[in-house]
Amino acid sequence: MSDVEKDLTEPRCGASDQGGQVPQVDVLSARDVPLGGPRAMTVRRTLPQRSRTLIGAWCFIDHYGPDDVADTGGMDVAPHPHIGLQTVSWLFSGEIEHRDSLGSHALVRPGELNLMTSGYGISHSEVSTTRTTTLHGVQLWVALPEEHRHTGRDFQHYVPGPVRLDGAEVRVFLGTLAGDTAPVRTFTPLLGAELVLAPHSTTTLAVDAGFEHGLLVDSGEVRMAGTSLHPAELGYLGTGNDTLTLTNDADIAARVVLLGGTPFEEQIVMWWNFIGRSHEDIVEARKAWQNASDRFGEVDGYDGDPLPAPALPNATIAPRKNPTRH
Ligand code: MN
Repeated sequence: MSDVEKDLTEPRCGASDQGGQVPQVDVLSARDVPLGGPRAMTVRRTLPQRSRTLIGAWCFIDHYGPDDVADTGGMDVAPHPHIGLQTVSWLFSGEIEHRDSLGSHALVRPGELNLMTSGYGISHSEVSTTRTTTLHGVQLWVALPEEHRHTGRDFQHYVPGPVRLDGAEVRVFLGTLAGDTAPVRTFTPLLGAELVLAPHSTTTLAVDAGFEHGLLVDSGEVRMAGTSLHPAELGYLGTGNDTLTLTNDADIAARVVLLGGTPFEEQIVMWWNFIGRSHEDIVEARKAWQNASDRFGEVDGYDGDPLPAPALPNATIAPRKNPTRH
C-alpha cells in the first residue's frame, strides 16, 4: 500500500572521511507511514524518497515490525489495485493471507517469496492471519520496464534454500548471489536476498558491477563497504563494484536484506498503488478502479469492501527521477 504524502528526508553520506578507494555509500533513513486499518499499523519507508527513487527497478521499500499484533491490530489491507509493477512480500515472522484477482489464494510465510506481477492491472488483499502474534517483514515493489508493463497478471511462490557461507547465511529470493540463483522470472536484472550475518564476521560477496545495491538493515549494526548502518536504515552503493563487504562487529547476529539491479533509466510516475509513465496513465487507472473495471478484476473471499482511490491532486503528477550522482 502506498500513499500520497511528501517525503522530507535527505541522505547522509558515509565513509567519505576514509578517502582513497573506499566506495561511497549513501545512508537513507526511513520515515514512518501509517498503513491504515483499524489501529493503523505503521511501516518504515526508505524508498522512494526525495534523494532516491529507484535502486535498479526496486522502487518501494516498506519495512515493518517486529510488531505485536495484539497492539497494532496486524495487517488488514482491503482489495486495492496495482499497475506497472511487481510486489514482493518477504516475512521474518508472522503470516499473511494473500488473495488476488488472478484467483491466487496464498499464505505468505517467513523465508518464502511471494511475487505478484500486476502487469496491466490486478487487485489484491493482504490480511495477517489469526495465528500471527508477531508481524515482521518487508513489502517491496519492482517497476516494470516499458516493454513489459502491460503484461498479464501473475503470481509466483518460491522457497529459497539457505546458502551457508563462513559468517553468513543467505537466502536468494530473486537473481543470483553466493552461487545460488532464484528460478523466478524478473523483467529487468535484479537481486533480492536475505542475509543473516554471524557475530564478529566479515563477508565479502561477489556482485555484478553493473548493478547498484541497497542494503536494508533489519536488526543489528552492520557496515556496508565500511559505512555503518543502523536498523531500518538503507545503504546505497552505486554501480562499478564487483564485491560488497558486509561486517557485523557485534556480539549478536544481524539480519539484512540486499537488493540490487541495473539502473532503471525510464522515468516513472508513481501515485497511490500505480506506476505509469504519465499523469494520464494514472488518471486512466484511477478511473478504471473507481468504475470497478475488468482491468483489475475481483478479489474473492475478502470480508469487506475494496479500498476507494484517494482524490487526485489538482496539479499534474510529475515523473520521479534519480538525482545525478555526486
Ligand atoms: Mn498492494
